[in-house]
Amino acid sequence: MPSKRIVIIGAGPTGLGAAYRLKELGYENWVIYEKEDYIGGLSSSFKDEKGFTWDIGGHVMFSNNEYFNNLIDHLIGTDFISHGRESWIRMNGRWIPYPFQNNIRYLPKDLTRQCLEGLISAQNDKRQISNFEDWIYKTFGEGIAKLFMIPYNMKVWKIPLSQMSYNWIAERISIVRIERIMKNITEELDDIDWGPNNRFKFPLHGGTGGFFNKFSPFVSGRIDYKKRLINIDIDSKLVIFSDGKSDRYDVLINTSPLDLFIRMVKSKKIDTAYLMEKAYHLKHSGVYVVGIGLKKKTEGTKCWVYFPEESIPFYRMTYFSRYSPNNVPDGAINTYSSLMCEISFTEDKPTSENEFVSLTVNGLVNAGILSEADRENIVSKWLKKVDYAYPIPTLGRDNSLREIQLFLEDNQIYSRGRFGAWKYEIGNMDHSVMMGVEVVNKILCSEKENVWR
Ligand SMILES: Cc1cc2nc3c(=O)[nH]c(=O)nc-3n(C[C@H](O)[C@H](O)[C@H](O)COP(=O)(O)OP(=O)(O)OC[C@H]3O[C@@H](n4cnc5c(N)ncnc54)[C@H](O)[C@@H]3O)c2cc1C
Repeated sequence: MPSKRIVIIGAGPTGLGAAYRLKELGYENWVIYEKEDYIGGLSSSFKDEKGFTWDIGGHVMFSNNEYFNNLIDHLIGTDFISHGRESWIRMNGRWIPYPFQNNIRYLPKDLTRQCLEGLISAQNDKRQISNFEDWIYKTFGEGIAKLFMIPYNMKVWKIPLSQMSYNWIAERISIVRIERIMKNITEELDDIDWGPNNRFKFPLHGGTGGFFNKFSPFVSGRIDYKKRLINIDIDSKLVIFSDGKSDRYDVLINTSPLDLFIRMVKSKKIDTAYLMEKAYHLKHSGVYVVGIGLKKKTEGTKCWVYFPEESIPFYRMTYFSRYSPNNVPDGAINTYSSLMCEISFTEDKPTSENEFVSLTVNGLVNAGILSEADRENIVSKWLKKVDYAYPIPTLGRDNSLREIQLFLEDNQIYSRGRFGAWKYEIGNMDHSVMMGVEVVNKILCSEKENVWR
């Protein structure tokens, strides 16, 4: 029997994970198509003309997956820096250590009291939780909800939180017991260690993309760049590209956004119209990433900062030069520094692109991150629009995904990755690489997938 031809769409972390595993297994009959002329997808990095390196938003590498951690060791060895996370919330003109809910003692006294009263009332809140907003109120009470959780999450997701589910939260939000919060207040404790990313790695060279560039040898000779998939003929098992070329597959691994992919599926035998209706429930947000390069050393040890207040345009800012000296020109960390800001948008509520950079600079000054005088020290401004940044866990998502994935699998198509699987809770780099690895194990070795179920 001739071997199955495996075609992979997209050379982001998921596609690269799949390619790496195919190579590791010694499998020969596969190819990968990528619409850009580089690998890495959302985890790639860019050097601007002034010599600053930028990621597509603040990326940090952390994982408890053994295969992924071994892969990092194997591909970058010691070419990384290990950091202890130091993240903060900036609001009310104050610095509050992250997670907010653990450190409310840093608020003005009347607000700390509001948060505590809310937490106490929430103990007796008998409401049935049916969405993310309910979950926030029931878990944290009115004070924490209104001061931080609701405004911050609205800024990130850009849709009413009552339209979001709450079953994705596990490793994403710190849930603390009221006793611990009281202890933090009365004993004046900083409670900052929560979360799987409290230590993280960052490549010494080339930004986050520096790690994914190490996959190049594993796709060499098998990757076709500048190939944008536009149609899938599931009757003849053909993928068709924007340059008019096509290729045949036995098994297709898709890592491109699932809503767009579904619109490309064509069949004369099967009615696929209902899939479009299902795909309607898949909502996403986009992000503008604004990089500000400074001719100025930045002091301190902070990694990133969250901004819940509406008056500041970005929801998060990363002290990016702190991750690696090579993120600034010539590694001259005593002369240069860089800040990277993220601003969310949705297609329903697009934000005008024109004034983004100046809004960001003003936001940095208003938030006290830069001084007025620092405007003179700005030597580089970098802007990237990312149309697909966050797959939103909406209420209708899981039912839609179930039907779409069943249909695809019946047609030997496996859709995996941040936007291929459309699951934020498994949307990190380690999850993505492992979804690629595990789907190959499933296709070739009939093994069960763990990350994607
Ligand atoms: C703002 C932000 C911050 C993040 N921070 C972190 C973090 O701190 N830690 C972490 O672990 N993860 C983080 N991530 C997640 C990380 O970026 C993703 O997990 C990872 O890049 C997803 O990999 P993927 O291969 O599934 O998808 P992608 O990276 O989106 O790659 C998909 C690939 O498919 C290609 N493609 C798309 N459409 C087509 C088409 N029609 N034809 C051909 N090719 C196509 C794209 O060009 C791309 O190369 C963050 C993401 C964002 C947006």
